[in-house]
Amino acid sequence: MNIPQSSFPRVVIIGGGFGGISLAKKLRNKEFQVVLLDKHNYHTFQPLLYQVSTGGLEPDSIAYPIRKVIHDFPNTYFRLAEVLAIDTDTNMVKTNIGALKFDYLVVATGSTTNFFGNKAIEANSMSMKSIPESLNLRSLILENFEQALLTDDLHEREALMNFVIVGGGPTGVELAGALAEIKKGILPKDYPDLDTRRAQINLVQGGDRILPAMSEIASKKAEQFLESLGVNVWKNVRVNDYDGMVATTNTDTVFRTATLVWAAGVQAVSVNGLDAKELLCRGNRLKVDEFHKVAGFEHVFALGDVAQMESELYPHGHPMMAQPAIQQGENLGKNLIRMSEDKSLIPFKYYDKGSMATVGRNKAVADLPKFKSQGIFAWFIWMFVHLYFLIGFRNRVVVFINWVYNYIKFDREARLIIRPFKKKYQVNS
Ligand SMILES: Cc1cc2nc3c(=O)[nH]c(=O)nc-3n(C[C@H](O)[C@H](O)[C@H](O)COP(=O)(O)OP(=O)(O)OC[C@H]3O[C@@H](n4cnc5c(N)ncnc54)[C@H](O)[C@@H]3O)c2cc1C
Repeated sequence: MNIPQSSFPRVVIIGGGFGGISLAKKLRNKEFQVVLLDKHNYHTFQPLLYQVSTGGLEPDSIAYPIRKVIHDFPNTYFRLAEVLAIDTDTNMVKTNIGALKFDYLVVATGSTTNFFGNKAIEANSMSMKSIPESLNLRSLILENFEQALLTDDLHEREALMNFVIVGGGPTGVELAGALAEIKKGILPKDYPDLDTRRAQINLVQGGDRILPAMSEIASKKAEQFLESLGVNVWKNVRVNDYDGMVATTNTDTVFRTATLVWAAGVQAVSVNGLDAKELLCRGNRLKVDEFHKVAGFEHVFALGDVAQMESELYPHGHPMMAQPAIQQGENLGKNLIRMSEDKSLIPFKYYDKGSMATVGRNKAVADLPKFKSQGIFAWFIWMFVHLYFLIGFRNRVVVFINWVYNYIKFDREARLIIRPFKKKYQVNS
């Protein structure tokens, strides 16, 4: 891997996401050799993936080169590598570019979509956990309308213009809202020869309210916002099967759709060698103690989505969100430094800064520690917070300019089929 020997202990971090980067920043210039490994050479700002899928933002405005993050971190090395396994007996990380010994290992591999074992849904639906997946979805949405324009078959046209988003969490809500805005503001102009009023956006939620992790008022208001935009909100409905054309549910409702987006579950990305049954909790998360140590190990830690730290307040671990990952990275950084100084460790305490979701222009909901807000004020808070946490000055400027432009012009100009997406199931096949 071409990492020089060092007199300092080596900390290997797997994953340059919110958690991994926050830890690397904390260890900058400290008496450690830090090796950051990621299978991508960029950090992804996942909260804005839905805007890439819906043509509101270019993908490069929500990605940031990891090497640039660590430009002035003299003790930190980045390697573009996929970690394949960990050997905790020999303290080795095995990757597709070689193996590396560690003194401390930090697993920050994040999470992936959970299809709960349903192979048909996994094969035929779209997910939105990465930039390539978001670009696939963007292409598919646009290709559907191009194809709808050409077909004389009414059933086929209906399926092409019918969108089903499964999962009423923030991702589902934000995507449904954005699609509804496209339907209203863009499709009639782009496709004057297609009756785009027939396009349907369906948000399907298994429980009795959308945004179940937020307050009742936020759920209620978000539902009202979605309905005002023309989204069909289906509650207490669970999609059981999807063959690429027809989605069946636990009720009599059946959706005929060429696009089903699965946003109904996530599971941790576990790594071989640390995937023994006794180490894992629900959703494949690694069980860690209050100092981020993986159960049974002294020098192996986990943080962010992949880690489950159970406490009285969070019996199922912290929410799989950016803030817990960032705060855990900072705390682990402090603790590694304290370990090297023979000082006692600081137990992790999560400071919940609140949660938010946006539905569309002037429409968002925010549950903050001191107050709750719904509507235009919440929308401004949402924009400010997302700009603040985006990595990179250029990205912030580009995103801000795009948002201002889109707001004034009611437009989303990144509706481009740069890389056509071929669904395995073809509507005409
Ligand atoms: C669509 C979407 C919207 C979201 N919206 C919000 C929101 O509004 N607010 C919020 O707080 N949170 C949101 N989240 C959740 C948030 O993005 C995650 O909780 C956060 O990214 C977790 O950080 P992490 O460091 O644990 O993992 P990640 O940020 O996912 O980083 C994991 C990194 O590990 C790398 N990796 C994985 N496996 C390997 C391997 N084997 N070898 C090498 N590298 C590997 C990946 O490439 C990735 O870079 C959203 C997530 C999604 C998908």
